[in-house]
Amino acid sequence: MPDKSRPFPNLEIDYSEVDGRTYNCIGDCALCCLCQPELLPQEEEKFRKDPRLAAGIAHRHISPDVRGAAIKLKGAHGACHFLTGRRCEIYPERTHFCRSFPINVFVGWRIQLNVNMSCRGIGLPGESLRDAGNLVLEEYGSNMLASELRDANQVFTEFVRNTRDAWISQSFSSIRGAAGALAGELSEELGISQLLTFAEHGSLRQNASADQIARMVRKTEPEANVQERALIDGTELFDLPDLTLLPIYIDEGLRWKIFKLVDKQIVGYELSEDGATRELSRTDPSTVDLMPVTSEGKKRFQEYIGLVNSRDCFLGHAAYLCDSEGYEYNFAQVYLGALANNALDLWWRASFLAALSGKEQLGPDEIREGIVFFDMDLLDLPTIGAFI
Ligand code: SF4
Ligand code: SF4
Repeated sequence: MPDKSRPFPNLEIDYSEVDGRTYNCIGDCALCCLCQPELLPQEEEKFRKDPRLAAGIAHRHISPDVRGAAIKLKGAHGACHFLTGRRCEIYPERTHFCRSFPINVFVGWRIQLNVNMSCRGIGLPGESLRDAGNLVLEEYGSNMLASELRDANQVFTEFVRNTRDAWISQSFSSIRGAAGALAGELSEELGISQLLTFAEHGSLRQNASADQIARMVRKTEPEANVQERALIDGTELFDLPDLTLLPIYIDEGLRWKIFKLVDKQIVGYELSEDGATRELSRTDPSTVDLMPVTSEGKKRFQEYIGLVNSRDCFLGHAAYLCDSEGYEYNFAQVYLGALANNALDLWWRASFLAALSGKEQLGPDEIREGIVFFDMDLLDLPTIGAFI
C-alpha cells in the first residue's frame, strides 16, 4: 500500500517543520493577498484565454526576481486585483501560489517544506500542514521535483567545493549544532554581541565540531553595541521609498499595517485594499529600546530561532552571503552572524510593536507578534537553492 503521508518515497523530503502543525485560514485576514502571486506557465495560459482573468495580469512586478507573469495589485501598492472586501473574486480559479499558502517548498540539497509563520491561521485546529504540504508537492509532480532537486543539488555541491577550496568549510550539522546550543542566548545582549563579534573578528579552523564552534563563540570578548545596532538596522528597515517593499504586519485585529521612516520618525499607516494609507502612529526610533524578555518569552524566542536554524533556506541564505563576500570568512562565522542579525531584527520588531501598545517587556505573546511581523521577510531573504 502506498504511504499517503510520503507520496514521493524516492525523493528526500524534510517534513519536520510541518509535522504536528495544523492551520485554519481566518476569514477576513487576506494577508497573503498582499503578496503578488506569480502564475505557473500553465496558469498563465489559462488566465490569458479568459478576459476576466487576463484583466488581472500585471505589467509591472514588485519583485525583480519574478520570472513569469504575475497578478497585478490594486493601485500602486494595494492588494491583489481580485480581492474585494477581503474576499477572493476568483476563489475556485485562484493561483497555485494562493492555494499553497502558508506552505513554501524549498529545494536545496533536499526538498523541505516551510511554513510562513506570519500567517495567523497557523496553530489553529484545522487542516494538517503535512497533508497540505503533500497536496502542494503533488501539484508539482515527481518529475518536476526531481529535476528542480538535481539543479539545486549542483549549486549546493559547488558551494561546498568552493568553501573547501577557500579553507572555510564547515559541516552543516556542526554549524546547526553550534547554533542550536547558542539559541537560548540570542534574546540577551551578551549572546548577540558575542556572536556578532565572533562573526566579524573571530577565527575558526575548517571542519570544527559543534562544541568547538560554540566554545569559541562563548570565549569571544563582546564588542558589538547591540542596542545601537538594533536602532540603526531597525530604522533602516523602514527607510524604503517604495511602499510595496516595506514589511507588512497584520495586527491581532487583522488590520494591515506598514511603517515608513519619514523625517526621522517611524510613521505607522493602516493599508487598505486599494493601497490607500491612513496614518495611525508616529514614533521616534531613538525611544525604542530592546525590551527585556521574560523567561516564557525566551522560550518562545528560542523555539523560533531553533526553527530558523532548521530551515534549509536560511542555510542557503548564509551560503549566498558567503558567496557574495567572496568566501572570505569561515562559513560558520557567516551563518552565526546572519542568525544573530536576524535574532536582533526579531527582537527589535517585537520591542517596537510592544512599545506602540505601551508595554515594557516581552512575554510569549509579544514575541509572537514579532514573529508574525518578521517571518514573511525572513522567508524572502536571498538564498542559494530556491522556493518553487
Ligand atoms: S495569511 Fe493565512 S490566515 Fe491569512 S488569509 Fe492567508 S492563509 Fe488565511
Ligand atoms: S487570486 Fe484570490 S486568493 Fe489569490 S491573492 Fe488574489 S485575491 Fe488572494
